[in-house]
Amino acid sequence: MANKTNRRNSSYLTYPYIVCNLNKLRDNLAALTERCQIYNVSIVGVIKGFNGIAEIAKVYDGKVDYIASSRLEQLNVIKELNLQTPLMCIRISMPSEVDELVRICQISLQSDPSVIKLINEAAKKQGIIHKIILMADIGDLREGFWNKDHIFEEALKIENEYDNLYLAGVGTNLGCYGSIVATPEKLQELVDIKDEIEKRINRKIDIVSGGGSSSLLTLLDKKIPKGINELRLGESVLMGLGTWGLDLDYLHDDVFELWTQVVEVETKPSFPVGQRGVDAFGNVVEYEDIGIHTRAIVSIGKLDYGNDPFALKTFDKNIKVLGASSDHTILDVTNAKEPTKVGDIIKFKISYSNLIYLTNTNTVRLIVRD
Ligand SMILES: *Cc1c(COP(=O)(O)O)cnc(C)c1O
Repeated sequence: MANKTNRRNSSYLTYPYIVCNLNKLRDNLAALTERCQIYNVSIVGVIKGFNGIAEIAKVYDGKVDYIASSRLEQLNVIKELNLQTPLMCIRISMPSEVDELVRICQISLQSDPSVIKLINEAAKKQGIIHKIILMADIGDLREGFWNKDHIFEEALKIENEYDNLYLAGVGTNLGCYGSIVATPEKLQELVDIKDEIEKRINRKIDIVSGGGSSSLLTLLDKKIPKGINELRLGESVLMGLGTWGLDLDYLHDDVFELWTQVVEVETKPSFPVGQRGVDAFGNVVEYEDIGIHTRAIVSIGKLDYGNDPFALKTFDKNIKVLGASSDHTILDVTNAKEPTKVGDIIKFKISYSNLIYLTNTNTVRLIVRD
């Protein structure tokens, strides 16, 4: 039984569990590394999807260029492990965390000149050189310089004025806020920015970081522009590309399983009986009347996995998620392959949107299989 970071230990052992199969994770990482190598693209292993849990993060050591997270708390735990792989922070930094940033990470993504100045000062105080990847916003409208002249100016400044920073590269982010697709044309814009910076600082830069798992689709489609040489992969390594509608036979979608226990099985109507108001969260909900059916309740809810019970996928496709409140999830088990009874364990595949919650709560235990 592994302890997750940043959470209280549970004194007793009970459901629900997450089961993480490290060998399946290794398979996914190897399969994607092999495919990225064809295009000279290296992988940054993004561990925020499972809250940076050390036992799982260790799988990435020595197999990726950097281990990365958006959260310094997670990277700090990894730093204590003294792994061989350097650490990257992929959320642009708060002014209040620059000292911790340069203490914990060798490299970070940045987009604000005033913060970059503070990072230089923090690195100077600690007597180290911190590497910077300058983020360019090419349309997704999350982080990144919008004005190209500003990113060129900042690159020159890092190169010439900041003694404790090293301009390691440029990067971008797509498919996050603005749902912008990583088309070859979009990614070429980033390569063009790199080319112009190289001209202005009169040397080559090492890294052109072309986004996360959504950019991997373009690579697998053989359309990644020459010059993109790094992808920061989280979800695709952890669960394949199902979110993007791709079911690839060489990627496991069940690295993580959720095991829950049944606490009630009853034959009930499917349509609520009585005068209807709002649900546990104040929402007006529409219910479908499919007649009398057999319903099971498992002891897990939105407190554990976030707001989306319908992202849970049962291994038995005949079991359907009907809905959930904070602590209960209701299933239609009328057509389940095996009759369901109290005490049974019902297993689910975990989607990324649930995993970030499930790995960050002390109400769900974790079993790591190696
Ligand atoms: C989360 C994140 C990633 C990884 O995204 P996935 O879609 O999980 O591959 C990459 N870059 C940044 C900046 C991120 O915040």
